[in-house]
Amino acid sequence: MKRVLFVEDEAAFAVGAIDRLQAEGYQVEWAQTGMSGYERALAKRFDLIVLDVMLPGKSGFDICRDLRRDGVNTPVLMLTARGEVVDRVVGLKLGADDYVQKNCEPVELMARIEALLRRSSGSLVTAAKCAQLGDVHIDLRKHQVTRAGEPLTLSPIEFRLLEYFVERRGALVTREELLENVWGVHGDTLSRTVDVHVAGLRKKIEADSRYPRFLLTVKGVGYKLAI
Ligand code: CA
Repeated sequence: MKRVLFVEDEAAFAVGAIDRLQAEGYQVEWAQTGMSGYERALAKRFDLIVLDVMLPGKSGFDICRDLRRDGVNTPVLMLTARGEVVDRVVGLKLGADDYVQKNCEPVELMARIEALLRRSSGSLVTAAKCAQLGDVHIDLRKHQVTRAGEPLTLSPIEFRLLEYFVERRGALVTREELLENVWGVHGDTLSRTVDVHVAGLRKKIEADSRYPRFLLTVKGVGYKLAI
C-alpha cells in the first residue's frame, strides 16, 4: 500500500482530497502545520508528500528545501491556491517534483499523484544492485561483498542492513524504519540494537569506522548511505 503524507492546514480541502486518496487505496497521514509535516516526513518513509505552499509556521517551500537538505528524496507534489502567484522555477529548484492548483478537478489531482508515484517506483525498480564504497564492492544480486577483491564475511543481519542502505542510497533511513524492515519489529525500544549493528557494519565496510565516509549518522534520526 502506498503511503502519502498530506500537509495542508485547510481542513475542508484536505478532508475531501484525503477521502478520495483513501478510496483509491492509499494510506494517508494528515499533517496540519508545516512543522508537523516536516517532522513526520523525517521520522517515517512515505511514497509521496503532498505539500501545500501556504502553511502556518513553516511554508511548503521551506519544508521542501529542508527535507532535501536532510536527505529525504520522497517525491513532492506542491499545492497552490487559486490566484496564488508561485514561482514554479524557485519551487522546482528547492526540490519539488510537480505542482497542482488546489482548485483543479479532483481527477487531475489524482492523476498527478499517480504519475509521480509511478515515476518514483520506476526509479526504485531500476535502483542499481551494485555499489562501490571505496575499495568495498557490493553486489546484492550475487549476495557478495568484497574488499579489494577479497570476500568480506557479513552476518545475515548485516547483509540485510547493507542491502537496505544500498537500495536507498542517498536517502535518510530512520532507526524506526530499519527496525520495521530489517528486523521486522515495530516501535523504537530496540533502537540501540540498530546502532550496534550499524557500528559492526561500519567496521567491515569503512576504512576507519570512527570517521565513516559512507555510512553516515543523521543526528537524532538515523543514517544515510552517502554515495
Ligand atoms: Ca494552506
